[in-house]
Amino acid sequence: MSKMIIDGQRVDSSDGLVIDVICPSDGQVFTTIPRGTATDVDRAVNAARASLSGAWGKVPAFERGRLLMKLSQAVLDHLDELTDLEARDTGKPMAFARNDITVLARYFEFYGGGADKVHGQTIPFLNDYAVQVVREPLGVTAHILPWNYPAQMLGRSVAPALAMGNAVVVKPAEDACLSIIRVAELALEVGLPAGALNIVTGLGEEAGAALSTHPGINFISFTGSNEVGIHVQQAAAVNAVKCTLELGGKSAHVVFDDANMERAAVAISKGIVANTGQTCTAGSRVLVQRGCYDRFMKALEKEFSKKTAGTPEMDLDCGPLINEAQFKRVNRYIDLGAQEGLKVEIEGRVAEGVPPGGYFVRPMVFSAPRHESRLLTEEIFGPILVTVPFDTEAEAIELANATSYGLMAAVWSENGSRQTRVARGMQAGQVYINSFGAGGGVELPFGGVKHSGHGREKGFIALEEMSTVKTIIQYYG
Ligand code: NAP
Ligand code: MG
Repeated sequence: MSKMIIDGQRVDSSDGLVIDVICPSDGQVFTTIPRGTATDVDRAVNAARASLSGAWGKVPAFERGRLLMKLSQAVLDHLDELTDLEARDTGKPMAFARNDITVLARYFEFYGGGADKVHGQTIPFLNDYAVQVVREPLGVTAHILPWNYPAQMLGRSVAPALAMGNAVVVKPAEDACLSIIRVAELALEVGLPAGALNIVTGLGEEAGAALSTHPGINFISFTGSNEVGIHVQQAAAVNAVKCTLELGGKSAHVVFDDANMERAAVAISKGIVANTGQTCTAGSRVLVQRGCYDRFMKALEKEFSKKTAGTPEMDLDCGPLINEAQFKRVNRYIDLGAQEGLKVEIEGRVAEGVPPGGYFVRPMVFSAPRHESRLLTEEIFGPILVTVPFDTEAEAIELANATSYGLMAAVWSENGSRQTRVARGMQAGQVYINSFGAGGGVELPFGGVKHSGHGREKGFIALEEMSTVKTIIQYYG
């Protein structure tokens, strides 16, 4: 039975209610988390505020950095334990969960190193005036996280906020809290002052809504669905606070006839089954130049048909989906593909011996004759790929941009000018050339355009997003 972390204490919810935690591999309840209330959110925000004027607010930048480095090491010291928790909670294959925890440690390391390296400015002004521009924390920052990469999202969102001296309140998704709670416990063990990092677990419409509407917060970092993101931005507007939105995606690969087909097929197959397709940046559409369509499909078949879903312990290409609702959603899209007349080109499989109650689906590739299908414009969040042919470069760019999203994209070609033209033409926050995803990418600025959201995380830019500047103008004549 896990507890929340508020003001340095492990606590139950104010009314004692809990939420069952279900293992996605077998559908069985294995522990509980507190169902946090508006009262708990209020306590967490007050604790965060108090820490800013108390112990945490007095920690100098280089010491904040050292604390984050210590937390990074503590995460690595507990790698096995955190991997087990993450795999059990989300169904991720063990190797995948292990990688997520390693990336989490890397976030604390990267931003720990950055804490004392964001410097201010002096500005030449009128005679007898000195002007300094100093960086300051935003204050109390709220972080509402999704269930697909709980550990990575915690690191990505919270590490830069703490590095810049903010006090943090996190609302993890109700389906994936366990690693986050454990990391917050480790943060206390390495000496992070009480109140600097608070975790309130609970339901989105209760704890999440209470946090996003709380008048005591100064910033909201939201990662999740478009529907809820818009809601959260409206709540931020009521309190006139800054809000960043990291939302969904429908990322396109564009494969030209001069591409290395084998390399593309390996990366594209891996990129859609990773995390069972439950990745905001999943490359879920493949636009293939007509002249190489058959060659590409052959290379894809060779890779994709091997993809197998199983339990975390089986450690295969992907696990189950996160919950029953997601299982039904992905199956609805599979049915819709058939109704729309799309052809199933390639299928992976579900391993024999998976428990009967698990949320497993077979990885699948559909082909569409034209870029006209809901499977090509809507985020499925499952291991479902759709291929579609194109003729010219201009058409490829137009089709790549033909969804409301704009998170990630990839161009596969050996022609250097074309690589850059297409990369510049695609509407996305990140574009890969002859690769995709490249594992974590902690150092690389990341975020969306269009309905994929706004604001940037990862990289040094997050330290700027999670802080503000004050301009001090002094007359000394
Ligand atoms: P979600 O349903 O929007 O939930 C995200 C978070 O918001 C959860 O903590 C949820 O809590 C909370 N929430 C729900 N209703 C709320 C409300 N009324 N007020 C405040 N908070 C509320 O998203 P999800 O299903 O967890 O995640 C999948 C989505 O996230 C996909 O669309 C994916 O593309 C996107 N995503 C984007 C990125 C990115 O970087 N762009 C990264 C990862 C995921 P509960 O879960 O407890 O309801
Ligand atoms: Mg779970």
